[in-house]
Amino acid sequence: MKIFHVHTYRCGHAENVPDEAYVKAATELGASDIWFTDHAPFPGDPFGSRMRYKELDEYISTLSALKKKYSSINIHIGLETEYFPYFDKAGYYAELRSIPGLELLLLGQHMAQISSDPPAYSFSMSREELEETEYRHLAKAIMQGIGTGYFGAVAHPDRIFRRIREWTDDMAEVSREIITAAAEAGLPLERNLSSPDTNYGFTPEFWKLVPAGTELITGYDAHCISDMISRTEKREDLLALFGCM
Ligand SMILES: [Zn+2]
Ligand SMILES: [Zn+2]
Repeated sequence: MKIFHVHTYRCGHAENVPDEAYVKAATELGASDIWFTDHAPFPGDPFGSRMRYKELDEYISTLSALKKKYSSINIHIGLETEYFPYFDKAGYYAELRSIPGLELLLLGQHMAQISSDPPAYSFSMSREELEETEYRHLAKAIMQGIGTGYFGAVAHPDRIFRRIREWTDDMAEVSREIITAAAEAGLPLERNLSSPDTNYGFTPEFWKLVPAGTELITGYDAHCISDMISRTEKREDLLALFGCM
């Protein structure tokens, strides 16, 4: 069993425990692998809910030291991040990809850049606008991100529909575009256990459109040790909610 998509205290909304506590808990759960994918910072720290830019080196070096210390479990170092064209143009994703020891950029599109020069983001939109159009902005960014080749997997793709009121044909079309683009690029889609577990953004309509044989990955989105333990216990039940694929 692999425990994929684990956050750390650095993001500011996770349990305040050392990274090693997750490694120990994962070992006790019998995991063969643990993948840390904390929220990536951006230069200048323009966004909240993520580590600060100056913490990035320490994040990599602390996890690298744990990798050396533990031979009983494979520790992997990744980052979960949004795709923003503004930071791509500035060379930031290429810079992240060049960090020694960083194995994966996980495309987790929690917000989108909606204009450039100066860049503006979807969190500046009104609630009504977000309910109408957020999923399209997020989907567009996901498609762009997939196309860059920087990312290794797509986190919680169905969560782009977190604010919708009812499912429409347009949403089905947008879903198919993401599913097809990810498949063509060879990126797995993440079945994020947190989505049904916390009832946040879980969208069964999306998963009904995913063809059999699509490459999938199971993500914990753990922000505390108890997330890791309880989602391991509930893993099969939660996965069953995504439908059989
Ligand atoms: Zn988080
Ligand atoms: Zn996420």
